[in-house]
Amino acid sequence: MTAEKVLLLIIDGVSDRPCPDLGNLTPLQAAHTPVLDRIAAEGVCGIMDTIAPGIRPGSDTSHLSLLGYPPREFYTARGPLEAVGTGIRMEPGMIGFRCNYATLDAAGKVSDRRAGRISDTTDLTRAIVDGVDLSEFGIGIQFRSGAGHRAALAFRGDGLGSDVSSNDPKHDGVSPPPFRALSNNPADQKTALALNSFVRQAEQILAGHPLNRDRQSRGLAPATTILIRGGGEMGAFPQFKERYGLSGSVIAAATLINGIGSSVGLRVVPVEGATGSSNTNLSGKVEAVLSELKAQDFVLFNIKGTDEAGHDGDALRKRDFIEKIDSAITPFLSIDGLLIVVCADHSTPCSIRDHSADPVPLVIRGDGVRTDPVRSFDEITCAQGGLNRVTGSALMPIICDMINRAEKYGA
Ligand code: ZN
Ligand code: ZN
Repeated sequence: MTAEKVLLLIIDGVSDRPCPDLGNLTPLQAAHTPVLDRIAAEGVCGIMDTIAPGIRPGSDTSHLSLLGYPPREFYTARGPLEAVGTGIRMEPGMIGFRCNYATLDAAGKVSDRRAGRISDTTDLTRAIVDGVDLSEFGIGIQFRSGAGHRAALAFRGDGLGSDVSSNDPKHDGVSPPPFRALSNNPADQKTALALNSFVRQAEQILAGHPLNRDRQSRGLAPATTILIRGGGEMGAFPQFKERYGLSGSVIAAATLINGIGSSVGLRVVPVEGATGSSNTNLSGKVEAVLSELKAQDFVLFNIKGTDEAGHDGDALRKRDFIEKIDSAITPFLSIDGLLIVVCADHSTPCSIRDHSADPVPLVIRGDGVRTDPVRSFDEITCAQGGLNRVTGSALMPIICDMINRAEKYGA
């Protein structure tokens, strides 16, 4: 028997270093995880450098790497992928950016980088799309709201570059600096000029918008400007289906991960209540995965709350959320013909509150897989498993081999 379908469960930033709050165990070691441990006992384990040893991955570059799209070749910046994730149709050559609605005070200094965590910006975004005109630059714009105060912007036009500075001062109490080209290339200079014009026009529209007047009357911070960063040119992505012969879906709360999935041709399945935090609608996401697995060959399932707990340095919350994940994924154990792959995209150690290059644990369980003596899923024991230490670029080839979809190399 061979598994036919694949579930790739990426528990974002789950792996860690020894945490003093947990008696020097990692959150994975400290958590009670009967389901993950059973997967480890019935599968083959290892540890994985998702990009390469010593490289601290971003979530974007690591997900690309795990899907078999080497980031050195396919990654330009976060902006274009974020734009795809908000639903903008990015064609190769378009320039994409990540944006925040933000608040300026009377002196033009940033007083709130998230505009009071404004949540529904649809009307503001529509007014900007209707009102901003960059035709003098020969540029068509697409602008869409994301979650909360977030949005994404895309430029389409000839002779545009992406090597430009950001207007995000990163701190309150500072005026947003104008965009400038970071090279002498006229294409970058054109983009910088167009961005300055975009923000000027958007600020005029936002200043008179009824939604902002209403927020001010209720004592809430109005969204008076847009901070823009992460610019990059959209690349051309060979489609997942053509590469591996597998149809697929992605289920993730993060716009960025959905953007990556969509860029490579995975179907994006939105789930009500998926927040990217430990309060996420886990059972709703699991239901969505179960339903996608009926129709698709491959499902990428990202759970983000573990990474957030790591960034907050909260080892106990990370441990507790791991236990919640463990019980939520129980239904996957009883699906026939399913190859279950569990790993992280990078470590997010609570001690450093950021991503590290420490390798992540990996387990693959399914019919025909050669099991090893590893009986628990964590950073330390998985290192003794049959997969040893692999790089992220090897993951899809290993998966394809285990479902008998790998092409023979040679005679
Ligand atoms: Zn991540
Ligand atoms: Zn992170």
